[in-house]
Amino acid sequence: MHKARIGAVFLAILAAAALLLGMLWLWRCGIQKASVTVFGTLADADAILLKEGEHAVLIDTGEEAEASKLIDQLYKEGIQKIDALILTHPDKDHIGGARAVVQSFPVAQVFVSPYEKGSALQEGLEKILSDQGIPVQVPREAQVFSCGSLEMTLYPPLNTYEESNDSSLLVYAKHGDVSMLFAGDAEKKRLKEALAIPFGPVDLYKVAHHGRGGKNAAEFAQKLCPRYAVVTAGNVEESLARVFSGMGTEVYVTVPEHTVRFESDGRTLAALEEEQASQSTGEAA
Ligand SMILES: [Zn+2]
Repeated sequence: MHKARIGAVFLAILAAAALLLGMLWLWRCGIQKASVTVFGTLADADAILLKEGEHAVLIDTGEEAEASKLIDQLYKEGIQKIDALILTHPDKDHIGGARAVVQSFPVAQVFVSPYEKGSALQEGLEKILSDQGIPVQVPREAQVFSCGSLEMTLYPPLNTYEESNDSSLLVYAKHGDVSMLFAGDAEKKRLKEALAIPFGPVDLYKVAHHGRGGKNAAEFAQKLCPRYAVVTAGNVEESLARVFSGMGTEVYVTVPEHTVRFESDGRTLAALEEEQASQSTGEAA
């Protein structure tokens, strides 16, 4: 009797596991492939596209001087609309192309940092967004939204800082089991806040502030223990490079004009060669 009861419990556990696996399988079927493209630029600047099916999230827009190139690249990616435009902070190497983006594509919503730089670029952009009636959200606490099977979480700065960089929104993206963190230009004070957020290891880390080092930049990179790191500059500072090398992280740089592309199936993230990327964008165009 005792053995029979153990057998029944075992069978019940097996049945529950099978049910769970089935549910997991169905859930995975709902996940389309997603791609992440970090556009190559002539000088240090961020412009990153997350795409899943018809859905598109754009994180930053690079320099104004490279705006028309960015628009062409987005067309080549097959983008027709942007679900969310996230501007991590109002520096010109992040919002420079935003005006051209909202004039070229329907943009459903814009998320911005609370930082008021008072620059002509930021004020001009605010006017266009208001004229076009595009909703602008300024997250005051962690804010989550979904875009297809991409789940995005925005972490705003917890304090008011003098430096626009330290007011960067942090963008955490989940696609099934794949996780990614885009850290804008976070510097010392913002990274101190970021270190308190319980991020686990991530598959992809868009390195804060164009790969510039500093004690907590290295500490934060270590905490994220990324499989891939992208530095939106021509090189990464030595202290950070050492940390990445120690963790076996593959590091990519985007300057000059080196576009880096990744693809996620919801389980793993794979880095694609640039040639492959340009071929597939060619097909999509
Ligand atoms: Zn920057």
